[in-house]
Amino acid sequence: MSAITMRDLTKVYPNGVRALDALDLEIADGEFFALLGPSGCGKTTLLRTIAGLEVASGGSVHIGERAVTNLPPGKRDVAMVFQDYALFPHMTVQENIAYPLRIKKMDRRGRAEKAAETADELGLSALLQRRPGQLSGGQQQRVALARAMACHPQVFLLDEPLSNLDARLRLEARTFLKRLQRELGVTTVFVTHDQAEALALADRIAVMEGGRIRQVGTPTEVFRRPANTFVAGFIGSTPMNLIDAEAHDGELAVAGTRLPMPEDVRDRVSAGEKLVYGVRPEYLDYSAEPVPGALSGQVVVVENLGSFSLVSLDVAGGAAGTSVQVVVPEGREPEPGDTGWVVPRPGRTLLYRDGE
Ligand code: ADP
Ligand code: MG
Repeated sequence: MSAITMRDLTKVYPNGVRALDALDLEIADGEFFALLGPSGCGKTTLLRTIAGLEVASGGSVHIGERAVTNLPPGKRDVAMVFQDYALFPHMTVQENIAYPLRIKKMDRRGRAEKAAETADELGLSALLQRRPGQLSGGQQQRVALARAMACHPQVFLLDEPLSNLDARLRLEARTFLKRLQRELGVTTVFVTHDQAEALALADRIAVMEGGRIRQVGTPTEVFRRPANTFVAGFIGSTPMNLIDAEAHDGELAVAGTRLPMPEDVRDRVSAGEKLVYGVRPEYLDYSAEPVPGALSGQVVVVENLGSFSLVSLDVAGGAAGTSVQVVVPEGREPEPGDTGWVVPRPGRTLLYRDGE
């Protein structure tokens, strides 16, 4: 068993930065798990603390049944792939892959065999005698993965494994990484600041902010039901519309319009309560004619994104500057200056308490 369990995990750097703040997290055995969050939220620190490259200031880390909080990296049975791959430039591909086996005191022949075998699995056989400087970015990344795989760790830790590849290679490497993880079945934690990458790859995602976990769930769960406005704003290719609203007589006042109160929250909301109304641009329908129960406004920007456009409206009746974005299919785009109506699709709206 190589589940990873973190309890009350805290990391305060000597300069006083609290990079992990009493964090609780459980990663299941064999899971492909994403740590997602903006730059500086503590993703790398969490990965390094699991690896033992940083010493926790408080709390615990378990791998399977083993308490590893105070073990050195070499005793944790984890392998980490760094964002910049950290290959040894003076060593060949073969020597790079075999390096951890040398540390483990495997004999020369065993090392060569294991390196050749791992290189073969990753399609690197033809490159064994090259040095990192003679490889493309994608090939270097595979060497870094091969080096991590060579000693069959219980846990893989990957820090932004795809961020140094160009857009086309990144898509290819995504598919490759997902297939590799499926085949190996090793518990894998990968860090990313790219929500699309996390949604596409992960079995489950933890969304982090300021050293804390704001939500853990499957890609579908965090996309459909973000637990708070932070996650709502972070997940999705276009940011969710988050509009101030107020509860009134079983209805919602949103930007000067009365909308029906969603069934699932009706009992939890009191009259006059300040709320935030959330709806994704994909789940709003645009109409050039008045529609009951729609928000109306003036079109300010029309962004052509290929098969659809992202249309921004200044919503009449909202607080100054309240704007709403809506996805409009190709050929149905309005012009800036037009008056338009947007209708939320039933069951696709979310409601948050102010400050949630
Ligand atoms: P992320 O990987 O999500 O971008 P990091 O874990 O690298 O975030 O950093 C989290 C916070 O800790 C940031 O405020 C960063 O400046 C700080 N930090 C990271 N490493 C160190 C360090 N070695 N010493 C002091 N502060 C650090
Ligand atoms: Mg980082």
